[in-house]
Order: sequence, then C-alpha cells, then structure tokens
Amino acid sequence: MSLSDLSSADLAALHGELTTAYDTLVGKGLKLDLTRGKPAPAQLDLSNELLSLPGEGEFKAADGTDVRNYGGGQGLPEIREIFAELLNVPVAQLVAGDNASLSIMHDTLVYSLLKGTVDSERPWVQDEITFLCPVPGYDRHFALCEQYGIAMETVELGSDGPDLETVKRRVAEDPSVRGIWIVPTYANPNGAVYTEEVTRELVSMPAAAPDFRIFWDNAYAVHHLTDHENPAVDVLGLATEAGNPNRVFVFASTSKITFAGAGVSFFASSPANVTWYLKHLGKRTIGPDKLNHLRHARYLGSADGVRALMRKHRAIIEPKFEQVETILEERLGSYQVATWTRPEGGYFISLDVPDGCATRVVALAKQAGIAMTGAGAAFPYGRDPRDRNIRIAPTFPSPDDVAAAIEGLCTCVLLAAVEQRTS
Ligand code: PLP
Repeated sequence: MSLSDLSSADLAALHGELTTAYDTLVGKGLKLDLTRGKPAPAQLDLSNELLSLPGEGEFKAADGTDVRNYGGGQGLPEIREIFAELLNVPVAQLVAGDNASLSIMHDTLVYSLLKGTVDSERPWVQDEITFLCPVPGYDRHFALCEQYGIAMETVELGSDGPDLETVKRRVAEDPSVRGIWIVPTYANPNGAVYTEEVTRELVSMPAAAPDFRIFWDNAYAVHHLTDHENPAVDVLGLATEAGNPNRVFVFASTSKITFAGAGVSFFASSPANVTWYLKHLGKRTIGPDKLNHLRHARYLGSADGVRALMRKHRAIIEPKFEQVETILEERLGSYQVATWTRPEGGYFISLDVPDGCATRVVALAKQAGIAMTGAGAAFPYGRDPRDRNIRIAPTFPSPDDVAAAIEGLCTCVLLAAVEQRTS
C-alpha cells in the first residue's frame, strides 16, 4: 500500500517496525561500500593477459615505430583504428592518450581557459564563463568547473537528453555559455542515452558564443547491459553537417574495458580542434605511453574483440544490476516512495527518494555501515535542490554484498520517508 494511503495509526506502527528493523541492521555491523563506479576484481581479471603483453622483445608497432621511445603524439594507429570504429569517429581525427580521459577533459578545459579555442577571440579566462550541467550528472565534471571558477547552470536530464528548450535558449541568448557536459551513452548516473535527434539539435542549435563547446564524454559507449546495444552516434559528422564542425570535443577511455587507471584514453574532434589539442599537448608531454597502446591493441585485437570483452563484463555485472532492481521493487515498490532508473548500460542506478530525504537516507545508511555516494554528489557544488537523488554503484562489491547493501538501503529509505511523514 502506498505510504500516502496509510492512516496516522498505521504510519506510527510502521515507524515502530522500521525502527526495530533499522536497529537490527545497525547491530549487524556491516561494512559495505556502494560509493564509486569501479570495476569488480573479476572484471579486472578478464584482462590479466595485458600484464604480460606485449611481451619480451615486443616493442615494434605495425608501422615499425619503436614504442619504447619518445614521439607519436597522436598515439599508435592500431589502437586508434579499433576505437575509431567503436566511437564512430574518423581515425584521422582520433587521438589516443595516456591513462585517463578525465585528464584530457581537464586539459582541453584549461587550454580553452588559458589560450582560447580555435574559434575564440581571446582566452576564456578573460570573460565570465558558464557551463550547462545536465543533472543528475558526473560529479568530477562539476568539480572541474568548480576548480576553475566556471559558473554552472543545471538543466534537467531526462532519459534521452537534457531539457532541450532550456539548453537552446541559454546557448542562443548568453555568450557566457561556452560549454555543456554530456555523457551521451548510459549517462552517469541516470543511464540516459542521447538519441540521434537530440544529438542533431545539440550540434545544430544557434550559439551566442562562436566558441561554444559540447564536452561529449562517451565514457560508457560500449558498456551495454542488454541485447539492445545502443551504437555511438556520429556526433562529429552531424556537427560538420550542421555547419558547426568545431563544436564537439569527444572523450572516452578503456578504464572500464581493461584496467581502470592503467588503460588508454581518447580524444576526438574536428581536424582543426585535433591540431589545436595536439599543439598544446606537445608542450605538456613528448608523447603518450605507446607501449600501453601496443599492449592494448594486441590484447583487444579489433572492435569486435572489444565487443566480445564487453559481453564478458556484462555477464559479471548484469546480475548485480538485476539484484538491485529486484530488491528495490520488492521492498519499495508497493509503498510508492521512490523511483529509480533501469539502465540499458553503464555503471549506475539513480534512485530518487521523497524530496528532502536523500541526506537523511545516506546518513542512516552510513550509520548502518553502508557507504553510499554523498547525497547531492550528482549536482554542481554537491547541492541537490530537492535533496532526493542517490547514486547506486553496484559493480564493485560481490553479489551478496550488493544484495545486503540494497536491503539495508531500502530500510533506510522507508524509515526516512516515514519519519518525514510522522514528524
Ligand atoms: N567520465 C565518466 C562519465 C565517468 O563516469 C568516469 C568514471 O567514473 C570517467 C569519465 C573517468 O574516466 P577515466 O578513467 O578515463 O578518467
């Protein structure tokens, strides 16, 4: 029965039951962590072959490059070819970098701030700069803006993209709006998948600032959880077609394909933007870790090799997502106190509890030994104006731990919701 249909006597009784259940939960002394979207050890084990690649005496790339030496700023062609196909970008416009796409996002932002983009009249830092932030979103995107004093404006994110009317209006009317953060496939944390239509709107909308940029972070491009494997949209082609070839910076990495922290990152954009990026990058490094590129190219083999590996990842993590869904439905469904996403891929489930309850739920969970990502983390400055969103990251813990954590979390959600109604 929905919580709102309960009489005050029933609510008081339920409050008593939940308090007892919560005390029992605390008594268990759990130590569970659902905070960060990390691959589980079993997922990392899938790529252990990398640890012995390319192998003794193996240091020549297909074109004869000695990968042990400096140079090759754009990265090895063989790894770029594999990911150009997966990301649906031209191989000539794809750069393979070091171990983290977040570093490339950081660098493109800092180069834009300090030097300006190819379409800027002057460095961004000389003006007020605003980024549009679809929410809920990825906390580290917002942390980058905060770090460099970029104002953030939130825009509601639905299942296939942000509130386009607001985005189009703000981009068209305000030249301070220079960027928007987009996670186009299985967005962190709500699982949104941007359709081709939405993408077309974003790359073609009029912009007051000629150097407006879409930070297109396709971190989960190949991380499917169902047979419906959403392909990467040809965002660069669409932008060129729309007459805005320089609008999009594409980012991706193998962090959740091979090893998180020891993978390969990617940047793709228009030819002019790639030249701009490599020019600035050339001051920062004499070349990427090509040995890691070679290792990855040999291990993954082809785009199909990556697809096959991702299906093995899916086999490990899909049951965890199913478990979360089953327990949320069983424990919370009938009370109608929460809604949650059922993602087709990616690493997260986004849970919305009653307005004003998320902080309390996370605090209750913490006291019961269940670490959740802080309430509000998916919003700029960590502030969720409705205090209702909680990010669930089920990939890292064992299936039993995921189940125990979500069972406990549900007790906390119900207790917080009943507390709110009885106080
Ligand atoms: N982008 C998104 C949307 C993510 O969720 C994450 C990690 O959680 C990253 C980027 C980090 O990527 P990388 O390891 O390549 O820096």
